[in-house]
Amino acid sequence: MSKYWNERIHRLEPYVPGEQPKDKRYIKLNTNENPYPPSPKVLAAIKEAVNDRLRLYPDPNSDDLRAALAARFGLSSENIFIGNGSDEVLAFSFMTFFSPDRPVMFADITYSFYKVYANLCSLQPNVIPLDEEFKLPVKAFCESSGGVVIPNPNAPTGQGISIESIQKILEADPDRVVIIDEAYVNFGGESVIPLTKEYPNLLVVQTLSKFGALAGIRVGFAFGDPELIQGLNRLKNSINSYTIDCLALAGAKAAIEDDEYYRQMAERVIRTRENTVNSLAKIGFTIIPSEANFIFITHPQYDAESIFHQLRDKGILVRYFHQPRISNYLRVSIGSDEEMNAFIVAMKDLV
Ligand code: PMP
Repeated sequence: MSKYWNERIHRLEPYVPGEQPKDKRYIKLNTNENPYPPSPKVLAAIKEAVNDRLRLYPDPNSDDLRAALAARFGLSSENIFIGNGSDEVLAFSFMTFFSPDRPVMFADITYSFYKVYANLCSLQPNVIPLDEEFKLPVKAFCESSGGVVIPNPNAPTGQGISIESIQKILEADPDRVVIIDEAYVNFGGESVIPLTKEYPNLLVVQTLSKFGALAGIRVGFAFGDPELIQGLNRLKNSINSYTIDCLALAGAKAAIEDDEYYRQMAERVIRTRENTVNSLAKIGFTIIPSEANFIFITHPQYDAESIFHQLRDKGILVRYFHQPRISNYLRVSIGSDEEMNAFIVAMKDLV
């Protein structure tokens, strides 16, 4: 007979994160990290926190960080929730806003953690296929459901969705929460944070992991109507008062206050992305137009999985996708110019 807990354990279908190799010689283009370091002001703020704050619990309400974000985005602190990475913000949102009674909508293909959260919360997923060009079918998302989650730009395609389309989806049913996951929006997309003032059913989620070059300290945000933010706080405070440590709070605040540094760095990544796209097109790849810090590519003659393994042998890590609706694709994060030059040289050898 099985143990009482076996069924509970096997009900979970956990996400499998991208590889984080111990060997530093790899060129890591597999988890969409930023190739550049965080702002020097972030390092200074973290060092100061190391000296001053380790003995104490961190601020459970992240007041200083929320104030910095409120100033940055022209909102009030009541519009802002902070989480331990945007994955935590998304998980808390699924737990708070969606119910097993009504299906939650997301696309196929999209960020694969949504399915994991739906399963965790015993929700029924209503999975909407992207169209042939990998665009989001806006009309289908306007149909009735218990909630919606859409990354803009989408992952792993990098394709963006227009603000007008998001407005249509928001207006189709004001009684359901629509989450727009803007993990990659700073690499060429347009944020809908300003729409949170108009639409009480809109929750915008962002992260410092990509644009902020701070995947290692785990800070994510949600922006929305105070009622939604209060909901997230009630959930969080039912689990753990101290989800963000004092070093992360200090570093994140300094990052938010150094907008100029990050703007320049994003421009660099975008320039490198465009150069990489041009080089890949010349050797026969098809590239989905990307507004993110990664590209989604395929070659009519070559197998993505085989390219993945051969690149790995050459010390370059990327991701490959073999799914029923998206087969033979590689997702490649945009690294530094040097890293992308090495990647292109390797690709020229392979195709
Ligand atoms: N949303 C999307 C679309 C992502 O690709 C990721 C990164 N894997 C996240 C959210 C989560 O990022 P983090 O938890 O590092 O903030």
